Amino acid sequence: MSEAEAKQIERMKSLLATQRDAFRHERHRPIDLRKADLARIADLCRKNSDAICEAISRDFGNRARQESVIAEIAFVIQDADHTAKHIGKWAKTRSVGVPMTLMPGKATIRREPKGVVGIVSPWNYPFQLAMAPLVAALGAGCRAMIKPSELTPATAELMKRLIGEAFEEDHVCVITGGPAVGEAFSRLKFDHLFYTGSTQVGRLVAMAAAENLVPVTLELGGKSPAIVTPGYPKLSAAKSIGWGKFLNAGQTCVAPDYVMVPNGEERAMGEAIIKIAEHEFPESSSDDAYTAIVSDRHYERLTGMIEEARAGGAEILQAEHDAQAAQAARKIPPTVILNPPADSKVMTEEIFGPLLPVVGYSEIDAATNYVADHDHPLALYVYSTDKEMATRILDQSQSGGVGINTNLLHLSVPDLPFGGIGASGQGSYHGEAGFLTFTHERSVFATGKWHPSRLLAPPYGKFYETVSK
Ligand code: NAD
Repeated sequence: MSEAEAKQIERMKSLLATQRDAFRHERHRPIDLRKADLARIADLCRKNSDAICEAISRDFGNRARQESVIAEIAFVIQDADHTAKHIGKWAKTRSVGVPMTLMPGKATIRREPKGVVGIVSPWNYPFQLAMAPLVAALGAGCRAMIKPSELTPATAELMKRLIGEAFEEDHVCVITGGPAVGEAFSRLKFDHLFYTGSTQVGRLVAMAAAENLVPVTLELGGKSPAIVTPGYPKLSAAKSIGWGKFLNAGQTCVAPDYVMVPNGEERAMGEAIIKIAEHEFPESSSDDAYTAIVSDRHYERLTGMIEEARAGGAEILQAEHDAQAAQAARKIPPTVILNPPADSKVMTEEIFGPLLPVVGYSEIDAATNYVADHDHPLALYVYSTDKEMATRILDQSQSGGVGINTNLLHLSVPDLPFGGIGASGQGSYHGEAGFLTFTHERSVFATGKWHPSRLLAPPYGKFYETVSK
């Protein structure tokens, strides 16, 4: 561990103590102040959108500006505005009924902030995936410490500065550093730990949190399939799937990971996807509108996947490109892999890049069985004009979320809880689900002067006989 990292670890321990102290003094942040916190987040996004896009682009080598505006900045603004609009209602104490035997007592649920929360975020949407959990935490009235990814250092430093200007350290702060800092961070005794990243590291984070019985949300990855059912218009499926796959050059947790089409339609679907991609990104090797791969390690991992599939007999279709320029810019053109071997990496590991295997299925049950035989994906996409068939596919499978005749967009509906299941994660956020993640529902039962519990105490009389029947 470097000296700088050791310093960061000491700093975060003392910040946790400071935030905890501040939380104890305030405890229930008034709704008006929470709304002001959220307005500061939205304001920070609006005023610094250029700087945010530039930092992300520097980190990636090139990130399409439009993608950063839509998927990072506008997303966070919408989330902050939506939360500010609804927290008054979400935070209200709720009354619930009481059984006859406990009347005339009053039972209520107080929605209280959990306290000081930790947020660990990944590199692929480095701004949004740190700020959206923060929006939920602030809406719930919590204080937060954020540990962004070391793979996107310019964005991490910018967030540290912007958050430092908008919030006191005892309210929100950013801790920078690599895995050693992340590891120490996940061992802190937070009141909730919110982690977004790989399934592999998520397991370590869950184990570290368990030591202190810290509740965790795990937003993980996986292989999200797109199933195209017989008769669905091919061009329409190809356009939609290609959009979701090549956005951010496939470095999206809910990107369609592979496509399943009726046997014999693999080539036609693959060619359609490539043709549309060539039209949308005419110069994928050099055009700023097509995002680069984040690091050399990921670039080599992805080119290795292509070569392995090719060596295994799969046919590779790639959008036209200038190989040298693409390599120099660390870009991989839109790539389709037709029927790769079942044991190849593109079919066994999360791809997280612009490679799209297209595989055939004999009948719809074979496709759903394939999905059910593997880890539950973060998302499942169904392309079907037959509503009953779409419902059957959902009935026969499990996934974090679902898109029907579309992909990715379910995560931008603020009132849909977003999260995985099994290996793709646990817990959820966005909208009220995010508010509840950082909220403790505290049950309160109160009686008046006359309280029925006397009847349940010894010496037991007739009342005891009534309730035991
Ligand atoms: P990663 O797991 O390598 O890193 C994520 C964060 O964890 C980083 O901040 C990193 O510094 C930190 N970290 C690393 N080692 C740690 C440790 N031992 N203890 C604690 N923290 C540690 O993930 P990544 O490569 O940045 O992100 C890609 C993965 O994230 C993909 O699998 C993708 O599917 C997933 N992802 C999921 C979602 C979602 O919402 N479900 C969103 C985006 C990305």
